[in-house]
Amino acid sequence: MTSEDKRNWKPATAMVHAGTMRSGFGETSEALYLTQGYVYDTAEGAEARFKGEEPGFIYSRYANPTVAMFEARMCELEGAEEARATASGMAAVAAALLCSVKAGDHIVAARALFGSCRWVVETLMPRYGIEATLVDGRDLGEWKAAMRPTTKLLFLESPTNPTLEVVDIAAVAEIANEAGARLVVDNVFATPMQQKPLALGAHVVVYSATKHIDGQGRCLGGVVLSDRKWIDEEFHDYFRHTGPSLSPFNAWTLLKGLETLPLRVTQQTRSAARIADHLAGHSAVARVIYPGRKDHPQADIVARQMSGGSTLICFDVKGGKEGAFAFLNALDIVKISNNLGDAKSLVTHPATTTHKNLTDEAREAVGIGGGTLRLSVGLEDADDLIDDIDRALAKAG
Ligand SMILES: *Cc1c(COP(=O)(O)O)cnc(C)c1O
Repeated sequence: MTSEDKRNWKPATAMVHAGTMRSGFGETSEALYLTQGYVYDTAEGAEARFKGEEPGFIYSRYANPTVAMFEARMCELEGAEEARATASGMAAVAAALLCSVKAGDHIVAARALFGSCRWVVETLMPRYGIEATLVDGRDLGEWKAAMRPTTKLLFLESPTNPTLEVVDIAAVAEIANEAGARLVVDNVFATPMQQKPLALGAHVVVYSATKHIDGQGRCLGGVVLSDRKWIDEEFHDYFRHTGPSLSPFNAWTLLKGLETLPLRVTQQTRSAARIADHLAGHSAVARVIYPGRKDHPQADIVARQMSGGSTLICFDVKGGKEGAFAFLNALDIVKISNNLGDAKSLVTHPATTTHKNLTDEAREAVGIGGGTLRLSVGLEDADDLIDDIDRALAKAG
């Protein structure tokens, strides 16, 4: 077996080569090791491997060569020491949060969270005696005021779903450090190409690899990245014994996704920036929120902590829900879907789908109205997308 070691590659090179372990056959593409377990030449060999005295794989719930290649490539991209891949983004989030708290501990989280993340923090955790306080992530005063002596974890996503609010990651990391707590960042919306939470001071980064990392609508996956100490001491046993592991087949698919991630995110962001500017100048559009535009409410923080714009745009069409539905139903190329980060452009009406379970007040607090739409820009030609959007806006108006 030969492996491709870190060589200070730029992301585009690393995403094609980093982490590759070649078998004796010298295959070009990463091998797919569809196996549950491993066999040992001798009883002594099995004993040594279980004692950790000999390197090697034991059982695919713990580790698998194809999954290990995906984890190594993600570490390279994120600048993390260790990673564990999971069966979905939610498996990554739930594991990263649950592994480091116990009854009596307290969590502070930004309230503008992906729906299932919010359920874990707000509904699941309290069942086990872990209290959570939700704050306006943009307001550092609220983070500080929510801290208690028992606060062990801070959790946020930035930019947020769906209104693309931005949280000052470095400032929240400082609040966590002062309290001896850990900051977990869900970096799905920014993608690893546009924001590096660990470099900004976060302790743990989680992804739904289902989104941009696959990017082609094929499989679910997730990943948790951090320093070696945290993975070894806090995460490792939880992961081994609760089994949120990623399937080798999905790891292989995600490895192929990583090969084109830099190209895809660059192109999708370029198209999204053009479409955001176009929407901002359109008379049927009431509001556009796009990280990367000068009129983003937190443009200064975007400039500090993100390297690009976003592949996502949040905008309001005039005419509330009725206007939004007329627009959605008139689209041809852009598909109605709650997914994002795909090669296909996808649009969501959060108030009636992803965020329908929030109360009216909670929806209002995170800026979701009847006319609010979230557009995930795909790989189609931007001119075709703009034509499609214009045609649909004309029908809606
Ligand atoms: C999709 C998503 C998740 C959950 O990921 P799954 O792969 O669907 O489990 C978590 N956080 C954010 C921000 C997401 O967009």
